[in-house]
Amino acid sequence: MTTLPSSLVTVTPADDAYRYLRSTYTTPHSPAQILLPSSPSEVQQAMAYASGTDLPVSIRSGGHGLAGTSSNDGGIVVDLSRMDAVTVLDRPTGLVRVDAGARWAQIAVALAPHGLAISSGDHGNVGVGGLATAGGIGWLVRRYGLTIDHVRAATVVLPSGELVRADEANPDLLWAVRGAGSFVGVVTDLDIEAMELPGIQVGQVVIEIDRDGRALVEWSRFLQAAPRELTMSGVLAASGGRLVLVLTAVFAGTDAPRAHAALAPLLARPGVHAGGLQNARYTDLVPAGHLHANVGQQPSATTNALLAAFTAESAPALIEIARHPSGPFVQVRGVGGAAADIARDATAFWHRDAEVLVTVTLFPPRGAGELAAVARPLWSHALGAYRNFESHPSEATFARAFPGATGERVRELARRYDPDGVLHRVFLPAPRELGRQDVKPE
Ligand SMILES: Cc1cc2nc3c(=O)[nH]c(=O)nc-3n(C[C@H](O)[C@H](O)[C@H](O)COP(=O)(O)OP(=O)(O)OC[C@H]3O[C@@H](n4cnc5c(N)ncnc54)[C@H](O)[C@@H]3O)c2cc1C
Repeated sequence: MTTLPSSLVTVTPADDAYRYLRSTYTTPHSPAQILLPSSPSEVQQAMAYASGTDLPVSIRSGGHGLAGTSSNDGGIVVDLSRMDAVTVLDRPTGLVRVDAGARWAQIAVALAPHGLAISSGDHGNVGVGGLATAGGIGWLVRRYGLTIDHVRAATVVLPSGELVRADEANPDLLWAVRGAGSFVGVVTDLDIEAMELPGIQVGQVVIEIDRDGRALVEWSRFLQAAPRELTMSGVLAASGGRLVLVLTAVFAGTDAPRAHAALAPLLARPGVHAGGLQNARYTDLVPAGHLHANVGQQPSATTNALLAAFTAESAPALIEIARHPSGPFVQVRGVGGAAADIARDATAFWHRDAEVLVTVTLFPPRGAGELAAVARPLWSHALGAYRNFESHPSEATFARAFPGATGERVRELARRYDPDGVLHRVFLPAPRELGRQDVKPE
């Protein structure tokens, strides 16, 4: 067995720092050792050591993963939080190198003086490593696409400890990093093309939702036809017996007349209320105020569905869910736009034709079993799902995220780069058990 070099910072239950490092956002955990590498070569040392044990091995960047797999009980955590540099490599092309342990609030702050931004997600405390290796559906998704769409290269430490570059010369590994990175190795940094973004405009829109969901259908038709600078996402909430969709509208750019014109057709409809658009910066959407330690503070069960659009069938299904007596927290996000520009087989994120993402969350004492029953009405309308909004990975959730040939390729690459299944000691099901597809492939 490889021994750990004394220079590698290691935290155990005897250390004061342990209580801030043991858990994830959703799940309290008790690992035996937390390794805190500060460079790719220390990640190599950590992985060579961890692979040589038969303990569970978790990889952690920001600790916001909903499945809580970035820590474990009794095993090893490789925590990348000390690796959080953000470097502008080439201002004219916007090429930026971000370390996997950085959080999106830090990146927004670091890029703002350069007039650049990377659309990531809606929370500043989420880490690079978990989001930029799976998707990245953010406030600017219709203008920029997914975060992975702009990943040009990455440094990866394989479970064996070998360090490799995922780039044009290594297309299989780059394909996997763009959507299924956690199946193949530990990504230590990514080269991402940021966008020019002098500013944004942001405002709230509230839509009254009628009993049969026509307002949802009309909203999704509106957004499909809207300029790509406009992205909207929000919460479908019960309010005094009524349902309302409370949305944040983000316009990528400073052209106020164009932003107002983009929203105008929606605001002209009955039952739509808005407070107007305000000038803001991208850093306001993923603020440094989001940064916090993860100590298992938000236990929850979450699942999701990607839809082509709201239709006369899927809108009532979502209304049924939102009105369920278990009180689910239902989020609705517009996708589409630039996310659909990428060929379906160019990355491990297949569902390029989705225009709407719906997430459904239950909080304790309700759990995953009840969530599955609550969310069931959505599945017959779904194209598939986004793996990062699934709290309970299973064969079924794998097949929803990676249907058909995409799933086969993810399995094949997982076997190639992680033949001993080191990364899958905590992430079930293991790739060689992923033969069965119990949801209908597209
Ligand atoms: C409050 C909240 C808001 C969110 N909002 C959005 C959103 O708007 N858009 C969106 O797309 N997603 C969103 N997410 C989901 C988010 O993309 C995932 O939870 C993501 O995995 C978190 O990344 P992390 O690095 O913080 O996670 P971690 O918990 O550190 O990691 C999660 C998993 O990712 C893998 N992983 C982590 N780091 C690496 C690495 N360096 N190399 C390889 N694999 C790695 C591991 O399998 C790990 O178990 C949100 C999550 C939360 C909790």
